[in-house]
Amino acid sequence: MVEDEKALATALSKIMSKNNIAVDLAYDGEEGLYLAQKDIYDVIILDIMLPYKSGLEILKELRRLNKKTPVLFLSARDTIEDRVVGLDSGADDYLIKPFATEELLARIRALVRRPKDLLDDNYLEFGNVKLYIDSGELEINNNRKKLTVKENQLLELFMRNPRMVLSKELILDRVWGIDGTAMENSVEIYIHYLRKKLGSKSDIKIETVRGIGYVLKEKRIDAQ
Ligand code: CA
Repeated sequence: MVEDEKALATALSKIMSKNNIAVDLAYDGEEGLYLAQKDIYDVIILDIMLPYKSGLEILKELRRLNKKTPVLFLSARDTIEDRVVGLDSGADDYLIKPFATEELLARIRALVRRPKDLLDDNYLEFGNVKLYIDSGELEINNNRKKLTVKENQLLELFMRNPRMVLSKELILDRVWGIDGTAMENSVEIYIHYLRKKLGSKSDIKIETVRGIGYVLKEKRIDAQ
């Protein structure tokens, strides 16, 4: 989220954290563009009027670099013109300030959940495992287990990227945020917890890729 009103940015980031959304903050356009170019975000939230570089300039630069991360604009009521320009320039959505935080959360969720990977009941499925993101529950053969917030976020990341090797660094950035105090050690610990919860009844597993990170894949691939 790139927002130069620090009090607003801080308040919003607290609400997002409470709703299991990891957020990094930038307070000006240059830092914002720098962070936005990293391919580690599900959604980029841009204020329009920012020091050094406007939200519109950031978006333009991102699209020029072929970065397709969804962008949500936050716009003051008196910059209606900007809203139009924003949508023309490839923003995915916008919200007019002041807005209800519930509305912001709903828009973020809508942008993150691409229809292709999310089924009607709001769960992700891979192998015989279903992950209900909202309730943070794991279902294997009709047995449900409750996950902790971090386990839920971690498994969501894997289930959105099955069979892809995810580096520890990327996992750390995505689940804990780049300013987080968590260490790679935390990733190892939570992978350990998740493996336990997946247990022997699941037909998928999180495999260690030595020196790189982890991959979520089918167990049966090994047998072939
Ligand atoms: Ca501003």
